[in-house]
Amino acid sequence: MSSPIVLHWFRRDLRLTDNTALHHAAAGGNNVVPVYILSTWKKKHSWTGSTRQQFLCGSLASLAKNLETLGSRLLFRAGAAEVELERLAVETGATAIYWNRDYDPHGRQVEERVQQMCARRGISFHHFKDSVMHEAGEVLTGGGQPYRVYTPYSRNWLSQPKAAPLPVIKSLGVPPRSTLTSLPVPTLDYWELPPCTADIPEPGERAARDRLKNVIDSGIIARYSEKRDTPAGQTTSRLGQDLRFGLISIRELYARALSASGPAASIQTYIKELAWREFYMAILWHYPEVFEGEFNPDFRGIAWTGSDEAFQRWCQGKTGFPIVDAGMRELLGSGFIHNRVRMIVSMFLTKDLHCHWKLGESHFMQHLVDGENASNNGGWQWSAGTGADAAPYFRIQNPWTQTKRYDPEGTYIKKWVPELRDVPPQRLMEPPAPGLSLAPGYPAPMVDHATERDRCLAMFARHRGKV
Ligand SMILES: Cc1cc2nc3c(=O)[nH]c(=O)nc-3n(C[C@H](O)[C@H](O)[C@H](O)COP(=O)(O)OP(=O)(O)OC[C@H]3O[C@@H](n4cnc5c(N)ncnc54)[C@H](O)[C@@H]3O)c2cc1C
Repeated sequence: MSSPIVLHWFRRDLRLTDNTALHHAAAGGNNVVPVYILSTWKKKHSWTGSTRQQFLCGSLASLAKNLETLGSRLLFRAGAAEVELERLAVETGATAIYWNRDYDPHGRQVEERVQQMCARRGISFHHFKDSVMHEAGEVLTGGGQPYRVYTPYSRNWLSQPKAAPLPVIKSLGVPPRSTLTSLPVPTLDYWELPPCTADIPEPGERAARDRLKNVIDSGIIARYSEKRDTPAGQTTSRLGQDLRFGLISIRELYARALSASGPAASIQTYIKELAWREFYMAILWHYPEVFEGEFNPDFRGIAWTGSDEAFQRWCQGKTGFPIVDAGMRELLGSGFIHNRVRMIVSMFLTKDLHCHWKLGESHFMQHLVDGENASNNGGWQWSAGTGADAAPYFRIQNPWTQTKRYDPEGTYIKKWVPELRDVPPQRLMEPPAPGLSLAPGYPAPMVDHATERDRCLAMFARHRGKV
């Protein structure tokens, strides 16, 4: 009797190593048909843009090649997942569908529909925890409630046993050669997107594994607690996009980080960042309404009054605040911004320019190669002072003193804002005289920080008076 045929539906798990659902799909000698289903929107999407889609395309091309070396073939279909999976199950005679769970509201809805289709069709389905160490329902208070604050969440998260990585898949049962159709490996043209102009990391599982090795070998985790707030040079792991697309597994990253050489406290600081990622995923799971508005009900409906012109200057990195402009240009140039600078630019947009955090959230999702709905929403609401365990609204960072503290030599600023290359570092830490700019061709600061800070405090106070 021939082996059963099953489908593996690739989603945000574009790897062969330690892929939970793929491991189970392949177990017991099943013949596995791997498929990736392309979304059908065209030209523009509020959650993504050319930068991240380019990384996705490269990662899919790499996955397709890796599957070929196992004698398999990655199929590309496009449309609604439940329709395409049903069609493919009929074409192949598949008796089961395997996938790894996705936790954001859109992913959950799609899974729901796929499950209904399977139930209707009598196809068995098997879905797995894969992209997190602990799912939202596994880290709860003693009373079984979701945490709304990070520190007790992280204590609980850290105390739970952690799954070890699974071995790499060395062979994959493939169905007898068939005439199954596939779209080509996608390029940006498929979504009718403009070319990616950012210098993004190399996509694909092999490149991600090399990055992970480099992070461990070069001592980035060993020095993490000391250096992670310095935006110049590589002081953090830069593995966000690899976690986002599942090019490396969270179990492997955790295990490798834990056994890295270096002070235990630094390793622990790094691991706590992985818990932040899951904290925000849990917030989005329990409170999907954070996509629509403020997590903190006290601040719902606040009147953000920033102008479109101010927002555009921020997007282009032309605010006249060197650290802000460096961050925004780093985003456009590389699809990345250092975490400390993400905080600075997001606070500046909301507290100095009074623009709605949702504008910034969307701009980040268009350009970040590691753009992740849960972390991005969490980060933006943190900075706006409206989120779960957010920065209190009255604690407003001053971009000039932040520069003094985190980029005292101006190394980061000068890398991204060439107009400021010859300006002495000291002058990058304080505003120039009113109306003056720091260098020819560079704009004067578009606002006065102290004035806007007061306006922002008044805006929050007015709103609090109303609720
Ligand atoms: C306004 C704002 C928007 C953000 N948007 C995103 C986003 O879209 N996607 C994203 O992955 N992170 C986001 N972050 C969190 C953080 O800035 C990035 O995860 C980090 O900069 C990625 O670089 P890294 O891989 O070198 O991080 P490292 O410092 O090396 O940390 C390792 C990993 O831990 C996780 N992590 C670290 N810090 C955080 C954090 N504060 N919240 C959640 N996870 C964290 C990430 O997966 C990261 O790759 C945002 C933060 C802010 C303030």
